[in-house]
Amino acid sequence: MTSAAKSKPEALFSLSPSWQRAALIGRPGELLLRLGLDPALPALDYERLRHFPLRVPEAFVARMHRGDPEDPLFLQVWPGMAEGIDTPGFSEDAVGDLAKLTSGGVIHKYKGRALLIATGACAVNCRYCFRRHFPYGDSLASRGNWQEALEQVAADPSIEEVILSGGDPLSLNDDKLSALVRELESIPHVRRLRLHTRTAVVLPERVDAHLLDWLGRTRLQKVIVLHVNHPNEIDQALEAAITRLRGTGATLLNQSVLLRKVNDSADILATLSERLFACGVLPYYLHLLDRVQGAGHFEVNENKAVKLMGELAARLPGYLVPRLAREEPGAPAKTLLPW
Ligand SMILES: *Cc1c(COP(=O)(O)O)cnc(C)c1O
Ligand code: SF4
Repeated sequence: MTSAAKSKPEALFSLSPSWQRAALIGRPGELLLRLGLDPALPALDYERLRHFPLRVPEAFVARMHRGDPEDPLFLQVWPGMAEGIDTPGFSEDAVGDLAKLTSGGVIHKYKGRALLIATGACAVNCRYCFRRHFPYGDSLASRGNWQEALEQVAADPSIEEVILSGGDPLSLNDDKLSALVRELESIPHVRRLRLHTRTAVVLPERVDAHLLDWLGRTRLQKVIVLHVNHPNEIDQALEAAITRLRGTGATLLNQSVLLRKVNDSADILATLSERLFACGVLPYYLHLLDRVQGAGHFEVNENKAVKLMGELAARLPGYLVPRLAREEPGAPAKTLLPW
């Protein structure tokens, strides 16, 4: 999959203006300076970094604590030396998605819902992400050609829900997105639209009037699944963005990834659930890390994860306890872990 790393997923012409305007930090030295951290903090070498660069919006950096190299938000984006370690059992296609990805950019693994790789671009590069090795840029959909994907959805009446994912669908501008959604609306058996987004979290200004306009008007039922891992990610700007999204009638859920040193404590996870609910968002999934090469240092072992869930359940109402899930290649749904 070496060609994967080389592909440039961003079709610049179609990126959203707020994304393009956003101050993105892309050089390790710049981020260290911005946070008042030791400029000698070791980063991944240039060659490895080139394949999956540092990328983080200033709006997210503003939520990090200055001078703390262990800040849980910083750790999610900092390309540290640990990424160079090859972890046994970790691979490049950890969730078996490549085998399921059609040339049109659709992954139809689960009954009733199909995932459409609307774009390969993200506003942030999360260091634990399986996307780091994924040749999304090669699929037609991520190059803005959705015809094949739409035909595939139209031809399969079992598909009631279309999930726009990526990358991050909100990387795209609203002309592109609303045109895609209009096409989906014209397929009678599609009833629900789901957006999986971290851009709304790291760059709340992306939740702008254009987005709210088409979201508010679609006939499809809307589910927006945010990706927040730590309560410190929820600032006033994100709260306001969530309120705007809820105003469109969308149901808001959250998925997190369980990450070592970031959110692997019952206190942090409980606070996260409560902070989310205070904004009107329900916790949905807590994912075990996809075992992707370069992310081994984030892994929390299953026993610890199960123990954490027990602690969470003992202190929160049931609706604030996320489902602990793992992606297993070939399984008919996400695998839920009993605890
Ligand atoms: C996670 C995922 C979904 C959605 O699963 P839900 O359990 O409905 O949230 C759909 N398709 C693919 C390929 C997925 O990875
Ligand atoms: S925003 Fe999502 S898809 Fe993009 S790098 Fe982060 S985890 Fe991966």
